[in-house]
This record gives sequence, structure tokens and C-alpha cells, in this order.
Amino acid sequence: MAELRFSALREVFNRVPVEYETPSKVISKYYGADVFNLHKMEHYLSKEAFGVVKKAIEEGKSLSRQEADQVAIGLKAWAMERGATHFTHWFHPLTDGTAEKHDGFLEMGENGHVVENFSGAVLVQSEPDASSFPSGGIRNTFEARGYTAWDVSSPVFIVGTTLCIPTIFVSYTGEALDYKAPLLKALSELDKAAVEVCQYFDKDVKKVYGTLGIEQEYFLIDEALYYARPDIVLADRTLMGHQSSKDQQLADHYFGSIPERVMCFIKDFECSAHKLGIPVKTRHNEVAPNQFECAPLYEEVNLAVDHNQLLMDIMKRVARKHKFRVLFHEKPFAGINGSGKHNNWSMATDTGVNLLSPGKNPKTNLQFLTFLVNVIKAVHDSNELIRASVMNESNSYRLGGHEAPPAIISVFLGTYLTEMLESIARKVTDRKMTPAQKTELKLGIGKIPEILLDNTDRNRTSPFAFTGNRFEFRAVGSSANCSASMIVLNAAVAYQLKKFKVEVEQIIKKGRNKDEAIFQVLKKYILESEKVLFEGDNYSKEWHEEAAKRKLCNIPSVPESVKCYLTPGSRDVLIESGIFSEKELESRVEVEYEKFTKKVQIEARVLGDLAINHIVPTAIRYMTMLTDNVKGLKEVFNELEYERLASARKEMIITISDHISNIKKLVNDMIEERKKANVIEDSFKKAVTYEKKVKPFLEEIRSHIDKLELIVDNEIWPLPKYRELLFTR
Ligand code: ADP
Ligand code: MG
Repeated sequence: MAELRFSALREVFNRVPVEYETPSKVISKYYGADVFNLHKMEHYLSKEAFGVVKKAIEEGKSLSRQEADQVAIGLKAWAMERGATHFTHWFHPLTDGTAEKHDGFLEMGENGHVVENFSGAVLVQSEPDASSFPSGGIRNTFEARGYTAWDVSSPVFIVGTTLCIPTIFVSYTGEALDYKAPLLKALSELDKAAVEVCQYFDKDVKKVYGTLGIEQEYFLIDEALYYARPDIVLADRTLMGHQSSKDQQLADHYFGSIPERVMCFIKDFECSAHKLGIPVKTRHNEVAPNQFECAPLYEEVNLAVDHNQLLMDIMKRVARKHKFRVLFHEKPFAGINGSGKHNNWSMATDTGVNLLSPGKNPKTNLQFLTFLVNVIKAVHDSNELIRASVMNESNSYRLGGHEAPPAIISVFLGTYLTEMLESIARKVTDRKMTPAQKTELKLGIGKIPEILLDNTDRNRTSPFAFTGNRFEFRAVGSSANCSASMIVLNAAVAYQLKKFKVEVEQIIKKGRNKDEAIFQVLKKYILESEKVLFEGDNYSKEWHEEAAKRKLCNIPSVPESVKCYLTPGSRDVLIESGIFSEKELESRVEVEYEKFTKKVQIEARVLGDLAINHIVPTAIRYMTMLTDNVKGLKEVFNELEYERLASARKEMIITISDHISNIKKLVNDMIEERKKANVIEDSFKKAVTYEKKVKPFLEEIRSHIDKLELIVDNEIWPLPKYRELLFTR
């Protein structure tokens, strides 16, 4: 077995970088080449059809059949020119991946001749038999079909020879079965609510967009080592492995020079991304060895999410060419940093204003503070829901697990804004303010520096940090589809902005002027959401204690946290506004429980197998070597000398034997617990049981294996070790 490990290592030592040529040194020459963007639409569509699509994109509407037919003609022409032979509706089922089913353009024409055809009907809608996607009980087998419908706001693109049409995915009875449909609804809610509030400051604002820049962290390991680690192949993470003597202590990987082989991979996937109009811009080494990050320029939320999903797909594909595997798992290696997907989020108006960016005068700054405080209030009020949106099995090793940030969602503002909010809370009175008081307040907020970047962004431990002109939601997991967190965040802020408007109007009705009413409500919100603000070290023990004192919710359990989707508060945010129906929300939660259970189940099975048929036999082999050695000593040495020489070896034999016995017993016990859990009908209870009764075995079993790894002869250890996985490339 150890041969596999050593031959894998030899393979890695002999690797050479796979060189890659971009079509041109100037990115703008090929940027967007594989996308049917507005520019190409203008060229390939009739004037009429172009106008229709443009309007549909701007207004978030869908196309009629006739309109779609017009678009399909131009789209087919472009796609065939670029060598496409097939098309697919590309969608986001509730699996964290994307789905596609390819159909050829091929059709039987008259007289038995084959023709290429692509109609408006198949462009806008399709009916995949998608009975195997998770639906949380919405779909019965007799109505297994789902519908996909074109999301005009996300452009069509080509991958290889397939034309990909971004779509939403709904059931036969109309319920959403994907992430995109509710995301579009949440964004539309945010638009409506934010435009209303913007009207207090600028009557010209007609539309507000959520903006999102996603930093993507990932690990790379060599393909040969990947195949020698069944746990990574099957569970996306290492289920065993002793810590490497050196890993990230010296922080010498962070921002270090990117290794050449890795650089070739990065350039290659960036080129594919750029052709697909994904504006990847930043690349660097991350903290842990073999960990890296890339980030695009920010875009409108729906597009940014599509682009991130597509980017992950491209990265996986291109990695194979370079004999690498990308690990998007949140915690592929114990003991060193995990990976996240930082969601840099803000709101922008159609007048070109970033609503979370301080402006030039008291008026724009009051607008800025209004949106800032409303976001804080939303994070405070929907605290549990926001955590629920990022909690899942793999991210639980990163959030709330040991050696990881806590599962407490707090907001970091930086000293300047913290003081600013405190001063507003102090100065604003509920009585009618004097002109002098008002002037003082306005002068104060007029002074907010336009560039707050230097004052903030110091605290890298905060899960929700203000970084000068946006919030950075860092608790999102690296493997996640960001839609889940974006649905909740945008919905919570939309809900909050609606409440804000109502409260301000009530005060105005009592005869106060607009600014005073706004100040009063902001003051109230600042006081009400104070407890969610935290400037210190989120990883510290003190914060856990402090958060408990503040009664901030901290639920490290995944199913318990996911359950918070169903609290009355969460229902208000998600159902009242029509983002989900009651049935859709319940089914989603159901899907999450099931996903959790299945993932723990897979990990438990993989670990059980590896422990019994890889590790135990290896340990027995080494034990036999030691016993043979002891026997040999007995033959060669006299009694006295033998006793002295053999004692250390005998101790080793006993230690190894104890570990073997423990592993065998624990694996058996774990199987018994699984059997008991498997018969539980209720999916929540089942998930909780898997978490409480099965998951702890993973840690216990691995601790024995990891100790064996330190004792057993390196020559016969079957699996690549952490030092090999993390430092060989
Ligand atoms: P960091 O220093 O946090 O690692 P990066 O440069 O890696 O920063 O990523 C910052 C991300 O934030 C980029 O994707 C950037 O486009 C995005 N961003 C900047 N401004 C905004 C904004 N107004 N709204 C959303 N995202 C933004
Ligand atoms: Mg970064």
C-alpha cells in the first residue's frame, strides 16, 4: 500500500509546469469572447430584438415567445460561429454545484435532412426530468419534472462547444427548487425598499442594485497525491493526518511568491474566466501552505454569484490539465487555516452612488449613515437567520469548530464610525431639536472622511466587517453557493429598510421634519442593535464569554442553526415579502438537514473503511516487525541484556496494540450509532443525532490514527502525510 504513496511522491517530483499561452497579452482583446453580452447582441440581433432584450434586462422582465424567437436566431448564429453544437439550461440546484443537461442543435428537417435548429421556445424554457435533485419533499415522483426558465439578467455563455443559458429552476407546481429564483426575488425586494429610502435624499434614484465581490480561497494539491488519499477523493477533506512539524507558524506562505507550477495554473484559469467575462483581478498566496485566493472585481449580486459558480467550475477543470486538484472544502486540513468565501457586499444606485460609501456633504453622509445603521440593525435582528444561511456540514469545521472563528455573528465598524454612532445616540433627543442642535449634528456627520479605508479593515477576525465602502461578510464557506447568504442578507436589509420607512413616516406625521425623523429612528436603531457591535478579537475566549453576557446567539450545531430559518422572525423576513412560500422555506430546511446527515454519514463510512483496511493492517505489520525483532533479540542476547534491550520495543508493541484495539472498538461503536440514527424518520432529529452521536467519533478515531502515524515506520505508512500534501508541488 505504501507503494502508492511513494510512487505518487515520485510523480510529483518529476512534474514540470504546464505552460500556457493567452490569446493575447492584452486581456481586453479577448475579454468576454465567450459571452453573448450586450455588445454582441447589438451585432447579432435585429434592432427590435436588441431593444426588447435590453429592456427586459433593465426591468428584470422575461421575454414572450415571439420575442424569444427573434433572440434565438441571432444567438444561434453567434453560437455556431464560435463552434457550439449543443445548448443547455444552466442552473443552481440545492446541491452547491451547478447542473446542466446538454441537447444538440440537431433536428430532423423535412425530407429526412438533418438541420441545426434552436428556437425561442427552448431558449426561454425547458422541462428537465430532474427527479434526483434535492427538493425537500416538494416533488413527488409522479410530478418529477421541473421547469427551467431563462434569467435574462445573466448573459448566455459558451463552455467548450456548449451554449449555456442561465436559468431558474422551479417545480411543476411552481415552487423554487434552486437558489437563483429566490435570490432574484430578494434582490428585487431590496431594490424596491432601498429606492423608497433613497427618495429621502435624492429623487432621481430609480433603481438600487446589490453589489458583490467574492474573494475565493482554495487549496491546491497534486493530482497523484489526491488519488492516494481516498478521504480527499470521497469526502473532500482529510479525515486523518498528523500535523506537519512545520506548517503555517512562520506565515512564510502568506503573500509569498507564487510557485511557478501554480502560477501557470492560475494564469490559465484566469484566461478562461476572462473569456467568459468574469473579471478576475486579484491573486495571492494565503496563510496556510498550498492555500491561495483569487478575487474578481465586484458586480451586481446575481451576476457575481453566477460568475463565482462558473469560476469554481473552470478552476476544477483547468486544474486537471495542470495535474492539480482544487479543494474548495472549508477545512481540508485540521490544525491549519480553513478557506472562506468573503462576500464583499454593498448597494449602489442607478445614479452611480455606493450607498455604503461616505459622501462629500452632510446630506450624502446622512444617506450613508442611514443605510449603514439599517444594515447593522438587520444583522442584529436577523442574527440567527444570517448564521443559518452560512451553516452547513463542511463550514461547521470552520465556524464554531475548534481552532476556528466562532459561530457568533457580530459587526465590526472601526473606531471612527463606532464613535460617530455613539455621538449620534448621545446627541439626538426625542424631543424637538433646536436649530443649534441640528446644525451641530450635521456638522459632525459632514466631517466623515470620504476614505475610511485606513480607519477600518484592521480586524480580520470579524465575521461581518465594515471595510470603508462595503461590508465584508466573511463567514460564508469557500465551497458554498453564495446565493444562500445573499438571499438572506438582501432580504433582511430589504425588510429592515421597509420598517425604517414606516417609522420615519410616523414621526413626520407628528410634525417633525424629515431629517429630524431620520435621526430619531437612527438613534433608536443604534441603541437597539448595540450588542451586535464588536471591535475586539472574535477568536478569543473572552469574546465567547462577552457574547454570552450580551445574550448574542451562538449556535455551533448545524441542524439547530439551520432550524432558525423557521423562527417567526425569519418567516417575517422571508415569507412576508414573498421571497419564499411557507412550503418552499420548509422544504429548503429539510434539504439542509438531509445534506448534513448524508455528509457526516459519508465521512463516517470513509473513515471507518480507511481505519480498518488501511491503518489497522499497517499497524499490525509494524507490530509484527517489532515482535520479530524482540524474538531475535532473545536468541542473540543473554537474559539480562535481553530484558534491557527489549523493554522499549515491548512498550511500543503495547502502545500500538492499544491504538489498534481502540480504533476497532470505536469504528464498531460508530457503526452501531449510525444504525440507530438511520431508523429515525424525522430529518431534524436524525441530523441532530448524527451530529451528537456519530460526528464525535470522527475526531476520536482520527486521534488514534494520528498517533500511530508518528510511531509506525514511515516506509510502510500508506497515505501521503500532511507534510507531503501541503509542501509538495
Ligand atoms: P481584501 O483586502 O479584503 O483581501 P480583495 O482585493 O481581495 O480585498 O477583495 C476585495 C473585493 O471587494 C473585490 O472583489 C472588490 O471588487 C470588492 N469590492 C470593492 N468595492 C465594492 C463594493 N462597493 N461592493 C461590493 N464589492 C466591492
Ligand atoms: Mg483578499
